[in-house]
Amino acid sequence: MKVEIRRSKRRRKTVQARVVDGKLIVYAPERIDEGRLAEIIANIRKRVERRQLQGKLNKEVDLAKIAQSLNRRYFSGRLRFKSIEWATNQSKRFGSCHSREGKIRISHRLAQMPHWVRDYVLVHELAHLEEPNHSPRFWKLVNRYPYTERARGFLIAKGMEENESL
Ligand SMILES: [Zn+2]
Repeated sequence: MKVEIRRSKRRRKTVQARVVDGKLIVYAPERIDEGRLAEIIANIRKRVERRQLQGKLNKEVDLAKIAQSLNRRYFSGRLRFKSIEWATNQSKRFGSCHSREGKIRISHRLAQMPHWVRDYVLVHELAHLEEPNHSPRFWKLVNRYPYTERARGFLIAKGMEENESL
C-alpha cells in the first residue's frame, strides 16, 4: 500500500490517516520525530491492511454457506447461528464462538490451509453452539466429522490453539 505523508504546521500532536483510491494518506504535525511517525504509520497500515483482507475474504468465501452445509451433514441441520465470519485479529487462535449470541469467527490463517482443516474448525465452532465446553459430549459431536484427528494434528503443528474462554 502506497503512503503519502502530508505535514501541517497547524497540526500539533495527532496523526490521522485515511485511504483514498487505495493510497494511505497520513496527516502529521510538521515537527514529529521521524522514528515515531514511522512507527505510527506502520501500525495504521497494518490495521488498514487487516481490515481490507477481512473484507476481501468475507466477500470471496461465504463461511455461513459452508457452515450451513456442514450443519446439515453433521448436525442434521438443527443448529442456529447469526453470523460466521472471517476475522483478521486472531492469528494464534483458529476460531471463536459466542454461543449465546450465535456468532462465530474464524481466523484468516485458515483461508490458506486445506479445506478439510477449515471445515474441521467450522464443525468445532458449530459444536460449541450446543456444547460450550470441551466435554465428552462435545467431542462426540465433533468426531462425527471424519478428519477431526488429522486436522487437530495439523493445527497443533501450526501452533494454533483455540480460545478456551469462550
Ligand atoms: Zn473449542
